[in-house]
Amino acid sequence: MSNRIPVHMNGAFQYDIVMEMTFDGLERELNQFNLQGRRICIVTDSNVASLYLEEVEAIVSRCCQVTSHFIFPAGEENKNLDTVRSLYETLIEKQYDRHDFLLALGGGVVGDLCGFAAATYLRGISFIQVPTTLLSQVDSSIGGKTGVDFDAYKNMVGAFHMPKLVYTNISALKTLSDEQFSSGMGEVVKHGLIRDASYYEWLKEHAPVIQKRELGYLEEMVRISNHIKREVVEKDPTEQGDRALLNLGHTLGHAIEKLSDFKFLHGHCVGLGCIAAMAISINKGLISDQELARLYEVMNAFGMPVSVKSITAHDIVGLTKNDKKMDSGTIRFILLEQIGKAYVDTSLTDTDMSDGLLPILA
Ligand code: NAD
Ligand code: ZN
Repeated sequence: MSNRIPVHMNGAFQYDIVMEMTFDGLERELNQFNLQGRRICIVTDSNVASLYLEEVEAIVSRCCQVTSHFIFPAGEENKNLDTVRSLYETLIEKQYDRHDFLLALGGGVVGDLCGFAAATYLRGISFIQVPTTLLSQVDSSIGGKTGVDFDAYKNMVGAFHMPKLVYTNISALKTLSDEQFSSGMGEVVKHGLIRDASYYEWLKEHAPVIQKRELGYLEEMVRISNHIKREVVEKDPTEQGDRALLNLGHTLGHAIEKLSDFKFLHGHCVGLGCIAAMAISINKGLISDQELARLYEVMNAFGMPVSVKSITAHDIVGLTKNDKKMDSGTIRFILLEQIGKAYVDTSLTDTDMSDGLLPILA
């Protein structure tokens, strides 16, 4: 199977997702863009800078006229307009113009913030995603959603802006903490549940080697997940319909994330939300109740939490009313018709949701 996945929108080619085991191939990929006389600003966070900036900057500097970098302190709390403002200041000071590029080197926080700056600086300049967390390699770097948080509101300010390239170095996953790796697995398991029962089985079977981060298996996993995400976003680039299926586990997951004061990682909350969505699907008679035990098995194998303490169903359901996926008073909830097949349900009651939350509030 090819390590290059082209992404189209409305039938027209947009960008390639390229997966390799080192950063070296980035030089070949950048050279397609004819960057003679151009500048590239590498945007990254403090953790990723200490691990990979020197290596990536050396590669980038061989492809363009001027390379600069912008480093901000790691953490979701810095994905905000203040950081965007300092990035704009750097770009203005260094006289970046509309033909220059930004390159996001890091996880979803870096990708979202850099993408948003690229979408808005001079009404939009080109940017490249070089995702380094599992969550960003399988999810946030693909699809062109960019944005920052505003006060307490997550991803409140943003834009759709497609990258010119997503370059994924699988081996960067080796340095990720166990907790961050397991959080990314939340989105991976979700991909199996919404689209591909055999992938879900494969994940379960190969959990030990994936947990050991054997690169061949990680590559296969990231590739299959990218195919699934690509397929969904191509059909619905601006989230009018089918792309909502990627929100499996997110309506209740976001509420749990918020109620935990963001102490629980995003992918872990998505996993908990997937348990609840599955429980609701079982209560509706859509799938067998044995599936819940299988999901626990998969999540345990990847070190994902399967329950939360000190949060009530009442508070979780209350918070879903503010969810952005609520459309003129209706929550577009994602349920499972079967393993590997999700659908949008607009008929859920508060009681349906509370009952579905029972297994995780033990
Ligand atoms: P993150 O970017 O904060 O990265 C997690 C931590 O890992 C950070 O401390 C980072 O410095 C560190 N890190 C990154 N790469 C590393 C590596 N290779 N080795 C060691 N440490 C490394 O978090 P994330 O989980 O990647 O992304 C979460 C963000 O993504 C959230 O802000 C969320 O809103 C956003 N998101 C966006 C989309 C989208 O479609 N745009 C989708 C899902 C999530
Ligand atoms: Zn998510």
